[in-house]
This record gives sequence, structure tokens and C-alpha cells, in this order.
Amino acid sequence: MNAPFQPLSESLATGASHGAAQGIVNGLSVDVEDWFQVGAFENVIARGEWDSIKTRVEDNVYRVIDLFAEADVSATFFTLGWVAKRHPNMIRRIADAGHELASHGYDHARVFTMDRAGFAEDIRKARTIIEDCSGVAVTGYRAPSFSIDHRTPWAFAELAEQGYAYSSSVAPVAHDHYGWPEAPRFAFKPLPWSPMIELPVTTAMLGGRRVAAGGGGFFRVLPYAFSRWAIRQVNRSDGRPAVFYFHPWEVDPDQPRVAHAPLRSRFRHYTGLGKMAGKLRELVHDFRWGRMDLVAHREAARAEDLFLSAPDAATADIAA
Ligand SMILES: [Zn+2]
Repeated sequence: MNAPFQPLSESLATGASHGAAQGIVNGLSVDVEDWFQVGAFENVIARGEWDSIKTRVEDNVYRVIDLFAEADVSATFFTLGWVAKRHPNMIRRIADAGHELASHGYDHARVFTMDRAGFAEDIRKARTIIEDCSGVAVTGYRAPSFSIDHRTPWAFAELAEQGYAYSSSVAPVAHDHYGWPEAPRFAFKPLPWSPMIELPVTTAMLGGRRVAAGGGGFFRVLPYAFSRWAIRQVNRSDGRPAVFYFHPWEVDPDQPRVAHAPLRSRFRHYTGLGKMAGKLRELVHDFRWGRMDLVAHREAARAEDLFLSAPDAATADIAA
């Protein structure tokens, strides 16, 4: 139940400081999954086919590690158990480079498609594989497609019971595939009986509305200047760290094209791949970045209470 933080050397934890604002360390994260495992292709490429597809994730993760090394930044790699099991050397390389290994669940099943027992098994399985490969304790979790929302209040209870220190699984914005628009924009504490916190992915305020600004398709499709403006707003106006994410397949313009996926899915997946690495270099240069466990540690004292259910109901399985 404890939430032990690994001791972090300051140089490892804070990374680059060029052009940095006010010493705020933003959370940099990579959701480690292969190009065929994304939600956008879920109805086109079945999980049963995954093992027959040539993987590209390992080479892409090495590109990302090199890009981070150039800028001397550390980050968190939220990794699928399915991927970790097949690429143990990659897991060790991530850990050896000083990055945090965290869980992205086992095979990218979204949380609201599972009941509590299934979710408990999914996260236990993923964590065991990642810890066995790396030899390092996993204390962070990110739900596939930011799929913790008002439908799954038991998810936080399960994560806390399994000893996680933080989750970064909520997108506090309206989106057609995911999102929990009523959730807080910054760190919150979802349980009265646990110190575990949630670090929502970054949104910015534009014309009185929340807009997604923490990565994903928006980062690739819109000019980099939008992301720079948004993260500056979060750091300077809100005085809080941003939480940014991307995927290894986003730095791989040569990945196979899925011709029979819906047009909108293809647009979201393929637009801007060629410019992604360059944009990421600007991003890591323009702000200070660090591992999510460091951001969680610093945000813990500022996290607001947002208890989703009464203490005695917190462990009840509402999906049962
Ligand atoms: Zn994912």
C-alpha cells in the first residue's frame, strides 16, 4: 500500500533546462505500443493477429531514447505488458538510460470495457512482466486511450490497492473517443484512504474552453507553436506542470499503411509523422522535462480531493 518513490538524482530527474520557465518540471511520457495496437485500428486489426505482424516498436523506442539523450532529458515509458514480454532487452535499455518504466496495461484493453476483476488481472499481469524484465518497481499507470472516467470509479481503488503511487489516465476534455470533461485539469486525489494521485493529461484554456494540449494527434496535426503556447500558458498562468505524451510509432514515417481503416482514423494516425521528430526536438529544448514519478512527487501536496464515492463504497465493484 505504500507508495515508495525511487530516489532520483536531480540531474537524472530534471533533464534539460534550456529556455525553461520558472523551474517547473513538466512530465514527459511515451506510451509504448506498436503501430498496429492503437485504438484507431482496433476494429481493423484483431488482437489475435498481433503476433503475425512484424514489430517496429523496438527500433522506434531506440530512436526516442536517442532523441532524449541528445537533449539530456528523462521521461516515463508507459509500456504494454504484451510488448514488454516480447522485447525484454528494450525494457532493460529504457531502464539503463535512466528513464522510468510504468504500466500501460497488458494488451491495450480500455478500462471501461473491463469489470473490476478483469482490470485487476490486466494491471497485475502487465506490472509483473515489466518488473521482471527491468528489475525496477513500477509505481505509475496510464490507462489505454485515457479510459478512466466517471464510468470506472473502481479503477482508482484497484490501482491504490495494488500499490501504485500515481495514475495518468484521465483526459479532462471532450473528445469523440475518450475524455472526462468534468474532471479537474490538474493533479487530484481520487480516494480518501490513499495518497495515490491522478495526473491528467494537459489541457489549455482557449476562448473559455478546454482544449487538448498534451500530445497525441493534436501535436502532429497542429503547428508546434500551438503546443508551445499551451504549455507556456500552463506553466506561467496556471503555475503547474504540463503532462505530455506521444507514441514510438509517431517517429516512424515508414510504418506500413493500413489501407482499410476508416479515413478519419488514417488521417489521425498518419498526418505529420515526417515532422514529428523535429517537433519533439523543439519541445524538449523549449521546456524543462522529467519523469512522471518526479512530477507526481512534486504535485502530491497540491492535489485537490475528488472523492468519487463514499469511503465504504470505494472498494465496491460497481460493474459486478
Ligand atoms: Zn496507448
